[in-house]
Order: sequence, then structure tokens, then C-alpha cells
Amino acid sequence: MNTGSMLEKTRLDVIVVGGGAAGMMAALQAAWAGAKVLLLEKNEKLGKKIYITGKGRCNVTNVADTEDFFRQVPRNAKFLNAAVRQFDHDDVTSLLSMLGTETKVERGGRVFPVSDKASDVTRAFARGMKDAGVQVELNTAVSHIRKEEGGFAVDLAQGGTLHAKAVVVATGGMSYPSTGSTGDGYAFARENGHTVTPLSGSLVGLTMDEKWPTLLQGLSLKNVRVCAQMGKKKIYDELGEMLFTHFGVSGPLIIELSSHMPEDFSSVSVTLDMKPGLTAEQVDQRLQREFAENVRKQLSSVLVTLMPARMGPVFASLCSLSPEQPINQITREQRMVIGRMLKALPLRVVGTRPISEAIVTRGGVEVREIAPGTMMSKAAEGLFFAGEVLDVDAHTGGFNLQIAFSTGALAGRSAAAYTE
Ligand SMILES: Cc1cc2nc3c(=O)[nH]c(=O)nc-3n(C[C@H](O)[C@H](O)[C@H](O)COP(=O)(O)OP(=O)(O)OC[C@H]3O[C@@H](n4cnc5c(N)ncnc54)[C@H](O)[C@@H]3O)c2cc1C
Repeated sequence: MNTGSMLEKTRLDVIVVGGGAAGMMAALQAAWAGAKVLLLEKNEKLGKKIYITGKGRCNVTNVADTEDFFRQVPRNAKFLNAAVRQFDHDDVTSLLSMLGTETKVERGGRVFPVSDKASDVTRAFARGMKDAGVQVELNTAVSHIRKEEGGFAVDLAQGGTLHAKAVVVATGGMSYPSTGSTGDGYAFARENGHTVTPLSGSLVGLTMDEKWPTLLQGLSLKNVRVCAQMGKKKIYDELGEMLFTHFGVSGPLIIELSSHMPEDFSSVSVTLDMKPGLTAEQVDQRLQREFAENVRKQLSSVLVTLMPARMGPVFASLCSLSPEQPINQITREQRMVIGRMLKALPLRVVGTRPISEAIVTRGGVEVREIAPGTMMSKAAEGLFFAGEVLDVDAHTGGFNLQIAFSTGALAGRSAAAYTE
């Protein structure tokens, strides 16, 4: 980048740091509002994380209404009120359509590009920014953001300092660091007087401190139900697919569960229902029938009709039984234990996998220090935050990108208005 000369001398209106979903949206909106905008992205291309979203198809938003949207945001949902109301899922899809990327709605209200290509989303923004006159500089990492007279000094890792009246920090969280989200924005927030709440992974696999899941590593269970209970309160109850891994459990049901878990895992009991279509009574009737039909066989020959063959021996041992146990020696109490375990097998989860493996970061810039109506810092006037760098995260379904787009749009518009 030729920062040594031209740009260093120019006083820009808005510098946007980070060319992901939130940053590209902020830059576009600020430019549309009349500001002279520069976007700095440390990677060699824009939107590296967008490319891997929705398994390469990019679940760009969700058609859920605003109230439902807020239910999908487990923490700090109220903070997003203004941002989402001024730029919702309709605004996202209209904007993409205007920029040449049509979208379609799929199961659960999830919205994807018609082309099923995440790259079309980034391309649309790149085109939009070019037409709006946003200057984009790739391979340009910001190292510090410092308040100065009349605005901010933005130091570049490669040397040189740029100046702008307003800065939007849209550097993302800490998950999938190979996409560029390495947590730089937290340092920028701290050096400008902000608090960063504790960081952990959300939408991520859960670890267990028992050995048995490792024995089932790679086994996926379909059409099962996972429930989580905190005291008397049910905090999660969903049907779907889960996976056993070398660390514990993962797969869609568990990943979703992770965003419902409180900080203290010990207060939650998680159970797996392997027969969600049957009541406990029906499960017992089924067991009685199977036992009667296989009276001369071993327990394993019945378990194989109830679960994947690999799981039988592990399941028997969790019921304190041997798979070789002759059916005719199984007591009524033992049969009741088998039934109970089929309906509510305890999954003793103790923690999450590292943030680097998570879909999103939980925690971030303390939202009470940010004005929700503008996304401007209350600690450093003229500094704005947008996207995953903030302490907001949501469940799966397109809601995290919607957060990035809504906060990005608000931060971009507000930053432009601030510089007028
Ligand atoms: C595997 C995976 C799949 C996902 N699928 C979906 C999905 O389908 N739907 C959904 O809603 N959400 C999905 N998400 C979550 C979603 O991608 C993120 O929440 C969203 O991209 C966050 O956007 P952002 O702009 O805040 O941050 P990012 O997309 O992380 O962008 C931040 C940008 O800032 C740049 N940057 C960082 N530091 C600096 C610096 N110092 N100087 C210059 N540039 C810097 C980075 O290189 C990066 O390009 C997925 C996440 C993952 C990991």
C-alpha cells in the first residue's frame, strides 16, 4: 500500500478497520451517506470468513421477525434493538439484490444466495463499495488506534499512520483465526478506555470428562433429542443430529446447545433421548417385546435393534450391564434402567472447545460502553464498533451475520453523520 505518501497526507472522514461482513457494510453505508471512506483489511482479500459460512453457501440472514430474532440472541439482545430495527433481514436481502446477488429462503427461514455461493455475497459488497467510492486497502493490518486532536491516528503494522475524523472497528472475534479474526479489536477497544468481557467459544463442540464418548468417536446419531435443564428450567430441547468425538460431543444439536449454556456448566444437566418418538412407557413396552422375542439371546442382540451396533457395548456398560448378559437373566429393575437411559442418557459436558474452533466468540467489547443508537463508543467520541468484536452473539440460522450487517450499517451511517 502506498501509505507513505498520499493517504497519510489525506484526512479521511471514516476509516473502517476490517473487511468482513460488518466492516464492508459499514464502509458502504458511510460512503452512501457522503463520507470519504477508507477500508483497511489485513488479509489479501475481503470477507475471508464469509467464504466459509454456511458450508460455503453463506446463510446470510434469517426471515424471522424482529421479536423472534431477539429470542435467538441469548445475551445483550436489547442492545441490538435500534441496530436491527433500522436495518433488518429485508434490508440485507434488498441490498444484496441491488448489488446483483439474489437470495432464497430455505428451511427454518434461513436465507442463502440463489447461486449457493458465499463468494457472491463478498463480491456484491466489493462491487457496491467500488461504485460508492470506498477506497479498499488489502494486506494492511492496523496496529493501534489513538485519539488525537480532531479525530484518530490509525497506526499500520507495516509502518505509517493514517488520520480520520471517525474510525469503525469491525475486526471480528477470535474464532477461526486463519480468516483474520485474531482479536485485534479487543486491544483497540482497551487502548481507548473500553472493557472487554471474558471471551469464550459459542456454537462449538462440548467437552466431556468421561472416556466413553471417545470410544464412539465419529459416530453420528440422527433423529435424537438433546435436552438441557438448569434446576427446574429447561434451557434447551431440540431434535436433530449429534456426533461423538475424541473430546466429547459435537454436531448440529450440540453446537446449537453450546450457545444456550450458561458460564457455569456444573449447574446444567444435559441428556440424550435416543427414542424421541416414543414415550417412556412405549420404550418399556418395546423392551419387553424384544426381550420376550429374544429370550435365549444376549443383551447385545436386542441393543442392536435400538441403536447403532457400535454403541451397544458402551450403552450396556453405562447401564452397568454386560452386552453378553443373557436376556433371561435381566431383572425388571435392570430393564427399567435400560429404558431410562434410552430416554435420558446423561451427557456430562464440562466445557467448550477452544474459541479458535467456534463459529462465534462469546464476550467482547462491553456493550454498556457503546451507545446502542449509533454504535459509538461512550469512552472515545468518534470511535465506532460493529460486528462480532462486540459482546453479542446468536444461535445458528443466519442471525450472527444479521448482527454484523445491522451493527455495521448503523455504525457506518452514524460515523458518516458524525463527520459532517
Ligand atoms: C465456519 C463458520 C461458519 C459460519 N456460518 C455462518 C452462517 O452461515 N451464518 C451466520 O449468520 N453466521 C455464520 N458464522 C458467523 C459469522 O461468520 C460471523 O459472526 C461474522 O462473519 C462476523 O463478522 P465480522 O465482520 O464482525 O467479523 P469477521 O468476519 O471476522 O471480519 C473481521 C475482519 O477484520 C479483519 N481484521 C482483523 N484484525 C484486523 C486488523 N488489525 N487490521 C485490519 N484488518 C483486520 C479480518 O481479517 C477480517 O477480515 C460462521 C462462522 C464460522 C467460523
